[in-house]
Parts: sequence; C-alpha cells; structure tokens
Amino acid sequence: MGQTRVKDENTNYVINSKNKFYANEFRKAAQSRDFNKIVVLDSRKTCVTTIKSNLHNLRAFANEFRSTCKQLKIAIPDTYISHCNQTMSIDYRYVHENSCERCIENKTAGEVKRKAVVKINQEAHDINERNRLSEVTTTEIADYRINKSGTHNYRYSKDEKKLVERLLHENKGNVTETCAMTLVDDNTIKRWLRRGDIKPYEGEDAYVKSNRGNEYSKEEKQEAIDLFHELGSIHEVKKITGIPDPTLHGWIRPEVKYERLSIKELNEKYEYYMNQADMIDKIKTEKESKRNQNLEKISELEDFLKTGMKQLEQLKQEIE
Ligand SMILES: [Zn+2]
Repeated sequence: MGQTRVKDENTNYVINSKNKFYANEFRKAAQSRDFNKIVVLDSRKTCVTTIKSNLHNLRAFANEFRSTCKQLKIAIPDTYISHCNQTMSIDYRYVHENSCERCIENKTAGEVKRKAVVKINQEAHDINERNRLSEVTTTEIADYRINKSGTHNYRYSKDEKKLVERLLHENKGNVTETCAMTLVDDNTIKRWLRRGDIKPYEGEDAYVKSNRGNEYSKEEKQEAIDLFHELGSIHEVKKITGIPDPTLHGWIRPEVKYERLSIKELNEKYEYYMNQADMIDKIKTEKESKRNQNLEKISELEDFLKTGMKQLEQLKQEIE
C-alpha cells in the first residue's frame, strides 16, 4: 500500500501583538515571508494564513515581535486592499485609513486624480462639441459656390465679391484655392484685385506659389509681366498672382529711363538749387540775429531789474 498523504491544509491564525508598534513591525516582517495571506484585523490583531505544519515556526516568529499566536476560530472577515497595499478587514478599514499616513496621502492623491479625470473628460467633451459644430461649418463652406449654373457674363453682386474677398483672406491670398471654393475664375478675381474691388491679403504668412522647376506657364508669365506694366510694382503683382518676388524679378527688368538734360537746363537747375540754398541760409542768419537781439534785450532787462532791486533795498534800509 502506498503512503497516506498527510493533508496539510491552510489554517488561519490570529497573531495578537502587545501593541500597535509590534503589530506593525510583525506585519512588515511577515510580508517578506512565505505566508499564504496576511490580513489586518485591527490595530493589534493580524491574521496569517499558512499550512498547519508551519505553526511552530509561525509561533516563534510571532514571539520575536512580542506577539502570541492562536488559531482563528471564526472565518476571516471580508477584506479589501488598503491604499498602503495591505489586505485589511473591512471592519477596520476606516479606523486605519484615518490614521495611516500613507493611506491619507494616497487618498488625497486619489482626490486629485479624480478631479483631473473630471477635467480631462470635460475637455474631451468640449473638443468633441467643437468638432461637431465645425462639421456644420464645413457643410456651409460647400455652399460658397457662386454662379453654380455657370451663366455667361454673370454679374457678381457686391456681397458676392465681399464673400470672395473674405475667402481669399481666409486662404491667405491663395487665388487658386479661392477659385475652387467659389467657382469664380481666377482672371475675374485678379481683375477685381487690380481694380481694387477686393483687397489683397496683406499678412506676412501670405500664400506664395511654389516654384518647382518650370511650374509657370507662358500665359502666367505674360500675365504677370502685363500686370507689372499696369501696376508698376513687383510687390503688387506678387500680391495678386502669388508668384514670389525673386521669380518676378527674373521676368521683369524694369527699364529705368533717365531724363537727359541739356547743359543749359542743368545750369538752370544748378542755379535754382543754389538760390534755394542761399535763401535758406539767409533765413537762418536772420533768425539767428533776431534770436541774439532778443537775448540782448533780455539781459538788458535783467540788469535793469537787478539795479531796481538794489535801489529798493537801499531805500528800505534808509527808511528803517
Ligand atoms: Zn494604510
């Protein structure tokens, strides 16, 4: 016959410590030992679950912490894990949490966490709400199209031009983009810009057509040159076409015409400027001399007053 196996079941023991201090020390030490379960029953009592054959060792261990060991007759009460990570009888929970520093600390942290969660949820809600509303706006954008039926020689109203201007500015001056949104062709928008019907986007972040390779067509180039002759300013052309200044400078070399003057005309001009300079000198000198005259008068007055004061002093003294 085979050996009868001794049943070595888990048993619950209650460790009764002399006081709170020993109870704590015992629990700390017990946690690093190979017990099945450690449950805090109250400030002095700890329940340890271990196999029966370990009882002797447990008793000796408890003794080190001035604690006694008895079998727990009643079942272990319901437990929970405290903030300081101890398994604990529910009955003892509130007493412990209100006196355990780690639990108090962690409870406060929990409160902060809870508030943070509320705040995050609120922010997420706000963002979702904004997204939901912005979707509505997107639908509106689809309706920026003007002259949907494509009527030839369509007459644009003031409001429609205003709308195009607003969208052009929203697009940071990108005419192509604005054309796509409004169905107004780019020649029309550029014409309005030239005539001042709508204002160009002036922001520093203005859209600049990128110049990858030979991106500009002959027509675009010619149009820019024509525009330059009309407006006389490369900067203005850039504002309308979105083509960057350096590219435009490459295409447009403004001819500078100097007025050719005859020697006689030059002499006349020279004389004129010299006369002007003389006049200015004269005025300056006059002003200077007037100022000097005034200064002289002032010092004369001062002298006069001083003498007067002195005479008054003397008179006063004589009377006294
Ligand atoms: Zn605690």
